[in-house]
Amino acid sequence: MDFHTTDEQRMLVDSLTAFLADEIYPHEAEVDRTAAVPEEVGERITRRAVELGFYAANLPESVGGGGLDNMTLALFQRVLGTCSHALHGYIGQPTELLLACEGDQVERYLMPCVRAEKRECFALSEPGAGSDINAMTTRAVRDGGDYVINGAKHFISTVGVPDFAIVFAVTSVEDTPKGERKRATAFLVDCGTKGFDLEPGYDCISVRGYNNFRLTFDDCRVGAGQILGEVDRGLDLADTWLKMGRVWVGATCCGKAERLMNLATEWAATRHQFGQPIGRFQGTSFKLADMATELRAADLLVMNAAWKADQGVMDPVDAAMAKLYASEMLGRVADHTVQIYGGMGLMSELPIERMWRDSRLERIWDGTSEIQRHIISRSMLRPLGG
Ligand SMILES: Cc1cc2nc3c(=O)[nH]c(=O)nc-3n(C[C@H](O)[C@H](O)[C@H](O)COP(=O)(O)OP(=O)(O)OC[C@H]3O[C@@H](n4cnc5c(N)ncnc54)[C@H](O)[C@@H]3O)c2cc1C
Repeated sequence: MDFHTTDEQRMLVDSLTAFLADEIYPHEAEVDRTAAVPEEVGERITRRAVELGFYAANLPESVGGGGLDNMTLALFQRVLGTCSHALHGYIGQPTELLLACEGDQVERYLMPCVRAEKRECFALSEPGAGSDINAMTTRAVRDGGDYVINGAKHFISTVGVPDFAIVFAVTSVEDTPKGERKRATAFLVDCGTKGFDLEPGYDCISVRGYNNFRLTFDDCRVGAGQILGEVDRGLDLADTWLKMGRVWVGATCCGKAERLMNLATEWAATRHQFGQPIGRFQGTSFKLADMATELRAADLLVMNAAWKADQGVMDPVDAAMAKLYASEMLGRVADHTVQIYGGMGLMSELPIERMWRDSRLERIWDGTSEIQRHIISRSMLRPLGG
């Protein structure tokens, strides 16, 4: 494996870091306090990101994206992770699922997302179906040449307000030796379509200002031309994307952990108690050493998964390990950082408690830590019949 960074990669990291320092960090505290991103701030970040070529960096050049390889994208995500999702979301990275667009879908959905003219949301989770996707109850029933969707989704998140949703709905049920297995189809549903209602969701203590919505479908009729990919293959489509998405979550966790660790190190070196910097007490210095070591291990897991993906091997276990370890590592780093700051770590005047709250989410979305452990352990036990 070669984890050597090229001059181009270093330039990208430096320019993105400078962009965040200028355009994003100054707004983080206010966005967290108000749980809202002012429209002009979001628009400016997007406009500047388009100008500088950061927008849609995750998509191939053939559709107007940045065409970054997976290793470079991991470095890109790592920098994004240092700041609030509510703000870096405006440096849009349209879902790779849109690459499945065909015919007029390309000009109606994919290209406007690449050009920052439209924004999508990914609607999979339901009140009764989180980790257990097979519990999905949203259904799409064929009626002539159309499909009629009924059901509800929640936790569906994006910056600002989406223009359309990629909605997963059950279109058939298959009997398997292990019981019923639902087959879902992905539909492109425009906001404003009759029978599709989008309302603000919950008040989340993590990534404040990153909006989540509840979606309801009440006899929402869409044409067969709104199907993304193939009928009954929606979850396969989602799965391909979710696997790589887990590597990106791992990378963002590493970025955030590094920012926290740097703050903790600075505080430990400059805060004096009992006549010396608190970093001279082993209780503090060993925490720093553990942070640095665990961060390095997480970085290596992320790079390992990204490097293998660049060689054409996308192993779900690599992605699960990267997401599991990096998000759990971030939780420990965030908690140690609060401890090193003492009382000040909990005060909203400093960014620590915000980053601690933001960090908590990473162990939950894109598959909880328990689901990642399930994926990893299944790969160990299954070959032995366990
Ligand atoms: C801020 C935010 C934004 C989100 N954005 C989106 C979005 O844009 N689109 C979208 O579709 N979803 C989104 N989600 C949903 C997210 O993916 C789910 O929260 C996640 O998959 C977990 O589902 P759940 O919350 O229903 O928890 P549950 O599935 O109810 O899990 C609860 C607990 O039970 C454990 N558990 C469940 N099953 C098992 C098992 N088999 N073995 C061991 N433990 C288990 C879990 O690990 C967890 O600890 C978002 C969530 C949040 C919080």
